[in-house]
Amino acid sequence: MPSVPGVTDNSEMTSFPPQWDDGTTADSAEHQVHWYDERTVIIRQALRTNFEGPFIYLLLGSERALLLDTGTGHADLRKVVDELLDGRDLELVVAHTHGHGDHVGGDNQFATPGSEGKEGKRRIRVVGKSAEEVAEYFGISAWPDEVVEFDLGDRVLDVVPIPGHHPSHLAFYDRSTQLLLTGDSLYPGRLYVFDWPAYRASIARLAAFVAAGKPVRLVLGTHIEMSQEPGVDFGFGSDRHPGEHQLQLAPEALTELAEALEQAGDTPRRIVRDDFIVFPLSPAGEPL
Ligand SMILES: [Zn+2]
Ligand SMILES: [Zn+2]
Repeated sequence: MPSVPGVTDNSEMTSFPPQWDDGTTADSAEHQVHWYDERTVIIRQALRTNFEGPFIYLLLGSERALLLDTGTGHADLRKVVDELLDGRDLELVVAHTHGHGDHVGGDNQFATPGSEGKEGKRRIRVVGKSAEEVAEYFGISAWPDEVVEFDLGDRVLDVVPIPGHHPSHLAFYDRSTQLLLTGDSLYPGRLYVFDWPAYRASIARLAAFVAAGKPVRLVLGTHIEMSQEPGVDFGFGSDRHPGEHQLQLAPEALTELAEALEQAGDTPRRIVRDDFIVFPLSPAGEPL
């Protein structure tokens, strides 16, 4: 990893669980909470609450905390977030990688202000789900071509619109950790593509954004559907994931995806790679 001016290399202080709990046993917690570093929390909703088992990110700055996604709504995320933020004087912004139900399902849990925080009541802002609402909140005037900054206080994120899996999809690049959060657009699993031309263009733009001087330490998405066997996934709706692929992907995964889409051309087709499967769907959700 080349050193970058103004960025502290804290990679030795970061961690992942050796293996995520897929959360299938009756006594597994509704959420597995893992501190990646002292300002970054990765939360995994247990498969036993919903087969999607989405990952949720909580990024702490000096002025606000950003919760990225609220899961399916089948588990009490609010309680987890309240505990994590307890005693911290931070506004909470609840935003989303995209508007699918397994990422916005818990939004209504955040409809009431927190009991701790600024002036006794934590301010909570829940960002809408549509591309229009997302663009308005983050100040993106030229959707999807414009990249904007979002400052949590001493922690600047770059917000990159990447529609294709979903019209309001965003990627977040965290300059301080050099993590690239890619939601459902790139993760170790089935990358469902509902709008092929938009997805191809989005991944090409994201790769170009990174290549233009944004070093990526790891790519983090919002599901695991691959097994540890290269190119082999768990079936759709699997309620157990024995021997899951790890969550984090090397930065080369983005390059690999961009090149595969470039080669695939204009006709949607399934592309199986070791760490992910590009899986085009019709607008009605039928495999192509
Ligand atoms: Zn999705
Ligand atoms: Zn999803």
